[in-house]
Amino acid sequence: MKANLHPKYYVTTASCACGNKFELGSTKENLKVDVCSQCHPFYTGKQKFVDAGGRVDKFKKKYNL
Ligand SMILES: [Zn+2]
Repeated sequence: MKANLHPKYYVTTASCACGNKFELGSTKENLKVDVCSQCHPFYTGKQKFVDAGGRVDKFKKKYNL
């Protein structure tokens, strides 16, 4: 069977490393992302996390923050 040159485009739920979930257009289902506009200091302007400590520590460690 010939490969489809135009992969199906999903509106999928992406899961971020911070625990946030949001809808995203993608060619993949169940997308996982490392940062999103809700948690990345670049977007938030400051390191202001309201999530659980463990996750934040893990996140900081991963990105050397
Ligand atoms: Zn996030």
